[in-house]
Amino acid sequence: MGERGLDAVGFDLDYTLWDQDQFARSFFDQVAGEFGRRLGLGRRRVAQALHASLDRLTLAHPALFDFALHRLGAWDPRLVAELVDRYHRHRPPARPYPAAAELLGRLRRAGLRLFLVTDGPPELQRHKVQALGFQDEFAAAVYTGELPEAQRKPSPAPFLLACGRLGVAPARCAYVGDNPECDFAGPLGLGMLVIGVGTGPYAARASASAPAPDRRVRSLEGVAEALAAQAALERLPACLGDRP
Ligand SMILES: [Mg+2]
Repeated sequence: MGERGLDAVGFDLDYTLWDQDQFARSFFDQVAGEFGRRLGLGRRRVAQALHASLDRLTLAHPALFDFALHRLGAWDPRLVAELVDRYHRHRPPARPYPAAAELLGRLRRAGLRLFLVTDGPPELQRHKVQALGFQDEFAAAVYTGELPEAQRKPSPAPFLLACGRLGVAPARCAYVGDNPECDFAGPLGLGMLVIGVGTGPYAARASASAPAPDRRVRSLEGVAEALAAQAALERLPACLGDRP
């Protein structure tokens, strides 16, 4: 890869900067009582079916609620649609991963500009950014749900858009994400340095078809060191690779 400087570092949101399962599990706990009563099954059984679906399928699975309702013998497309709608309007509090705020602050103090590229319903994603306390962290944020479908991850388009908003060259950017199916191909194709973090459910679900990132780290604690080691020795302040 050779030595090169970095001007900006981009991040995925869900499972990269926070545990998105928090969101789903709080929703399940909120609706389980009501749906348990409506279905005559009890809160506990409904909650168990929802949590079991998440464990088995991951949140990205389009049939998560279908699976849970089938499991309860209560599948009904109207119920599925209602759950999906209410899920998208769910607005719980959210906590970032413990190392997230420190990492973002450290990179900013090192003179790097930060950007966000996140898929998902834009209103919901914006809410998460606020709830996580990240509203002032990113110099550019691309909510790909506002773009045509062909311009969402894994397309390079949203990453290029972020670079354009920042006025930086893609080859002088890094991107940090967790999902091999979404987060690696686009930025790799633009010559970004890609760091895969093993923080979400996809770490254990290796994909044969997805490209490998330039570097893999187990958690956010390793990201600053990976950036310093791999890409930016001559440009980044020496302190970046040190413990804060
Ligand atoms: Mg993610």
